[in-house]
Amino acid sequence: MPRKKLVAGNWKMNTTLAEARALAAAVAAGTTPASADVAVCPPFPWLLPVAEVLRGSVVALGAQNCHPQKSGAYTGEVSTGMLLEAGCKYVIVGHSERRHGLGETDPFLNEKAKAALSAGLHVIFCVGELLAEREANQTEAVLDRQATQGLRDLPADRLGNLVVAYEPVWAIGTGKVATPEQAQDAHAFIRKKVGVILGENVARSLPILYGGSVTADSAAGLFDRPDVDGGLVGGASLKADSFLKIIQAAG
Ligand code: PEP
Repeated sequence: MPRKKLVAGNWKMNTTLAEARALAAAVAAGTTPASADVAVCPPFPWLLPVAEVLRGSVVALGAQNCHPQKSGAYTGEVSTGMLLEAGCKYVIVGHSERRHGLGETDPFLNEKAKAALSAGLHVIFCVGELLAEREANQTEAVLDRQATQGLRDLPADRLGNLVVAYEPVWAIGTGKVATPEQAQDAHAFIRKKVGVILGENVARSLPILYGGSVTADSAAGLFDRPDVDGGLVGGASLKADSFLKIIQAAG
C-alpha cells in the first residue's frame, strides 16, 4: 500500500494566543480529507485552545516535546498522558534544537519515544547530521547511531504510530534546503536501517519526513522522491498561505 504523505508544522516558541488560533483556523479551513495528513504543533500553553479550533477538522494536533515519566517531580516537563488529554495525536521527539541546544541524548530520546508510543501517541522522531558531520562524510554514521540508539526496544504493537523526520541540522532555519537527491539518499539509508532495527514490514510502511527550510517552492521537488513521505516544516508553517501550499504539494 502506498504511504500517505504527512505534513507537520512545528511552530516552535512562536505565536501569541490570538495568532495561534487564527493560524490553526486558516490551516483547518484550507485542508480537506483528500489532502495529505496534516498536523500542527503549537507551544504547550496553546495546545488546548488550538485543539478547540481544530475540532471537527482533519488537522491533527501535535506537541513539540514530552517527558518519559508519567508524573512526578519533573519541574517544567509535560507527560505523554497530559498531551493525550489535551487532544494531541503526535509528539515530536529529538528535534535538533533539543538534541544540540538542550543536550538531550540518544538514550534519553529513546526513553521518550518508548513512553510516547506506549501511551498511544504517534511519535515524529527526528534525526539529522550537523554541517561538520556532513562535510566529514559522517552523515550515515550519525543517522545510524541516532536510529540504532533512539529506536531500540520500541513497543512492537505500536510501530505503526512511528514517523521519522530526517532533519539535517545545517538546513534547519537556515534557508539552505537539502537537494531532493540529498534527502532521498538519507531517507533511503534511514529506511534500510529501520528495516534492520524494526523489521522490513515496519520500514516499508514507515513515513519518513524531510525537514529543513522547506518552502512552497522546494516542497514538490522533495516530496516527489520515492522515500520522502512529506515534511516537518518550521518557518513556513507560521504563515497559513505558505503552509497550505506545502500541503498541496504533498498531494
Ligand atoms: C524544524 O524546526 O523542524 C524545521 C524544519 O524548521 P525550518 O523549516 O524553519 O527549517
